[in-house]
Amino acid sequence: MPNPLPGICALSPYVPGRSIAEIREKYGLKNVVKLASNENPLGASPLAVEAVRRHAASIFRYPQGGNPRLAKALADKHDIDPARIVLGNGSDEIIDLLIRILAQPGVHNIVSCRPCFSIYPIQAGISGVSARQVPLAGDFSFDLPALYEMMDINTRLVFLTTPDNPSGYCPQRNKILEFSKKLHAEYPDILLVIDEAYMDMAPDSGNLSLLSQGILPGNTAFLRTFSKSYGLAGLRLGYGVLPPEIAECFWRARLPFSVNLLAEEAAIAALEDISFREATMHAIREGRTLLSAGLKRLGCEVWPSAANFIMFKLPEGTSASGAYEALLRKGIIIRPLGSYDMPEHFRVSIGRHDENLAFLAALEQILAKGSQNVTHYNN
Ligand SMILES: *Cc1c(COP(=O)(O)O)cnc(C)c1O
Repeated sequence: MPNPLPGICALSPYVPGRSIAEIREKYGLKNVVKLASNENPLGASPLAVEAVRRHAASIFRYPQGGNPRLAKALADKHDIDPARIVLGNGSDEIIDLLIRILAQPGVHNIVSCRPCFSIYPIQAGISGVSARQVPLAGDFSFDLPALYEMMDINTRLVFLTTPDNPSGYCPQRNKILEFSKKLHAEYPDILLVIDEAYMDMAPDSGNLSLLSQGILPGNTAFLRTFSKSYGLAGLRLGYGVLPPEIAECFWRARLPFSVNLLAEEAAIAALEDISFREATMHAIREGRTLLSAGLKRLGCEVWPSAANFIMFKLPEGTSASGAYEALLRKGIIIRPLGSYDMPEHFRVSIGRHDENLAFLAALEQILAKGSQNVTHYNN
């Protein structure tokens, strides 16, 4: 049997949120609330579900190569040239391919923040490309001068996530624009990739909207996904808006049918489901306010978020791992941020109203019990 490459064996795998089935089985629970993976609180768009039903009998067919109908719908939505649009099996696939297309193993590097969405360094590692990371500032904002310092002539990609995961931080548009202009002037060989997985939930409209106005330099790319605000995480569909030359290469490198037929049909339908989108945004705004206020009331430290999740820390003196475990026992799954090197921080996704309340009630009970214990031991 051949040995897997040492570089591959040394990788830390991506740590996903715990699944409902796993927690149900482990704790013998009937109802489990999952607020761990930033999925849509309202489920999937009814029009998308209907499209999947309608096309179910067509699954014996290969999808159309290059998914041109969907690319056209997205180009119309963003008012840009369809030649810029690429589609992938989740935006994860696009991240992976961008690294493989642009960075030579053992020579080039990519730069991102730390902590960041872990797929960037993981996929770089798989490709044998070194991933440099620049610590976020103390308030979780981007240290743009330090990012800039970290680049050199062998840097090929810089990843920025706006709004950021896991903090929810969203920089002002003009900051990113300025950064991208400076980058373009000094390092024409670097592609700045702005991952806007959560941008449509932010009050700002994001930098992608600057593209159609021709304001952004040509070395800027964007990533968006159908996994979050469109509620299609299980179908796996993301898209990128790339410089046309790189988009052209992308289609040569991508596996021919990585976006499946049902994902394509569901996405085309979801793009038209205006009322589901409005209901989603409403639920996220309301839920964000409720959870943020509720967590603060319980004494947690809470970071402002422009996305469909909130990062927080428990009151001083509370065991993070103990509280996490206690929440699981009560059937509530949130995301501990140990895999982001922040063992004391959590990320909770905005759920439905009843789920948000169930989470806050469970946490309140756990914290009350914890403080009783502390009193008890102090006696
Ligand atoms: C969820 C997420 C994605 C999207 O992943 P998909 O592969 O499209 O499901 C991309 N970037 C960030 C930062 C995310 O949080």
